[in-house]
Amino acid sequence: MNRMENKVAIVTGGGSGIGKASAIRLANEGAKISIIEANEVRAKETVEEINQNGGQAAYFIADISQEEQISTSIKQSNDKWRKTDTVFANAGILGTISPIEYFPSKDWVKTIHNNLIGVFETVKHSIPYMKEKGGSITVTSSVSGNRQFAQQGFSAYSTSKAAIAAFAKMAALELAQYKIRVNAICPGITETNIFDSMKQSDKLEEIHFPIDIPQNAVPLKMEPGHPEEVANLLLFLASDEASHVTGTEVFVDGAETLVKG
Ligand code: NAD
Repeated sequence: MNRMENKVAIVTGGGSGIGKASAIRLANEGAKISIIEANEVRAKETVEEINQNGGQAAYFIADISQEEQISTSIKQSNDKWRKTDTVFANAGILGTISPIEYFPSKDWVKTIHNNLIGVFETVKHSIPYMKEKGGSITVTSSVSGNRQFAQQGFSAYSTSKAAIAAFAKMAALELAQYKIRVNAICPGITETNIFDSMKQSDKLEEIHFPIDIPQNAVPLKMEPGHPEEVANLLLFLASDEASHVTGTEVFVDGAETLVKG
């Protein structure tokens, strides 16, 4: 208990899934929480749940990929709680899933913009509030693009997630001078609302792999992970217990990617 006492945490995408579970986990350990979300109904629900259980949380509505919106909301969070100790740059979408040949370019850019530029803007605009005292930033990458490449039509999503992992390492080295740690979590399939954000091309079946790929194979328990299991990892990385951990990806996938690449 109280592993995050006296800490302030910003969680993007905290209205649902991994972000919501992480916000609740951090709050249960004593952190004050700022949810930054595009979806107001979901953001409000998370904040109410935390506050009704004795925690302290507020939400700020923003599209993380719009620089003005994310910089304003991070400032508002800092104004409210007077500091920023940890940032979970987590919000993301699956976006369009399509063969590359038919992938609408604007959709490809949209996924990269939402996921990758969104993380960049979140990290960029957090630095001024963290550089004096240090802290921790965790970004949500994925098994996709890092260990897993056999998801048909996922070229934009996987590229955004691989780039996020690379960005985390660049940021870890650059921000070490401020004692800001930066790590990437890479979840495998996890039960959330992420498929609501997916748009599937009707040309998808044109992608043929000449081999069988195991489906729904998670050796540890043969079911998807739960957001709370990712939140447990996030809590560790966000806390001072991870004081010497920076610049690394951590996979949380029940060994899924050891049997399918
Ligand atoms: P989710 O859809 O349940 O939650 C994502 C939340 O982020 C939503 O509430 C959505 O409104 C918000 N969001 C998305 N884009 C936003 C933007 N531009 N600005 C503000 N808010 C935005 O999905 P989730 O699975 O919890 O996803 C969280 C992260 O985990 C994502 O980055 C996703 O890519 C990553 N991830 C998920 C899985 C999985 O299987 N669920 C696996 C690996 C990685």
